[in-house]
Amino acid sequence: MLVAPRHFAIVPAAGIGARSGQNIPKQYVPLAGQPMLCHSLRSLAGAACIDLVVCVLTGGDPWPASPHAEALVREFGARLRFVDAGGPTRAASVTGGLASLGNEAGAEDWVLVHDAARPGLRSEDVVALVAALDEDPVGGILAVPVADTIKRADATGRIDATPSRDGLWLAQTPQMFRYGLLRQAYAKLPGATDEAAAVEALGFKPRLVLGRMENFKVTQSPDFALAETLLKARKLG
Ligand code: C5P
Repeated sequence: MLVAPRHFAIVPAAGIGARSGQNIPKQYVPLAGQPMLCHSLRSLAGAACIDLVVCVLTGGDPWPASPHAEALVREFGARLRFVDAGGPTRAASVTGGLASLGNEAGAEDWVLVHDAARPGLRSEDVVALVAALDEDPVGGILAVPVADTIKRADATGRIDATPSRDGLWLAQTPQMFRYGLLRQAYAKLPGATDEAAAVEALGFKPRLVLGRMENFKVTQSPDFALAETLLKARKLG
């Protein structure tokens, strides 16, 4: 009997956000009344096609006992889980999240890895990604084509070259691959900066699925105000 693959989401949220200029880890910075992490988790858990969302935290992080986290657990019940499996890099945290699913996920089940630092993801785009890739032999990622002209800088901050932007895309998350393939890929390239890079190292070509700019990664100080403006506008809309 054929069993339909399940869809797990892993949200690495064990970073400290060193570039953010904030005095708390960036995933906990309030945006439109809620910590950034709440928005990211809700985007995934709000998509009915996702069976379980696993949020990977640094060992001993007390956040799951906070009122915001408890409210999320009341809202999503057993479809949301916090695990103390974070590591020193994003790749290590994702690998910890994958290992925590060892007894539950089958090799053919799908895993969508999504950065806690991308609170602008829409649940409808999670649904669209799953629909686009569910029959795909490899998997793929949300991404947007590069619109601006690209410049390469030299060491003094002057323009060294203007590479063609033809065929260039900005990689986002979620990145969706089969559980078995993803474990194999991270075993081969444990320092990969994203899931696609690890899968590419195995010789596969992940698919690019058109996303939206508003799913950008909150990284530098001014990004927080932009993310808040977008999230507030969505609440009003
Ligand atoms: O720092 P950066 O924005 O590139 O991190 C991307 C994502 O990876 C964030 O959600 C961050 O919390 C997570 N991360 C992690 N463990 C680390 C470093 C980053 O879970 N050691």
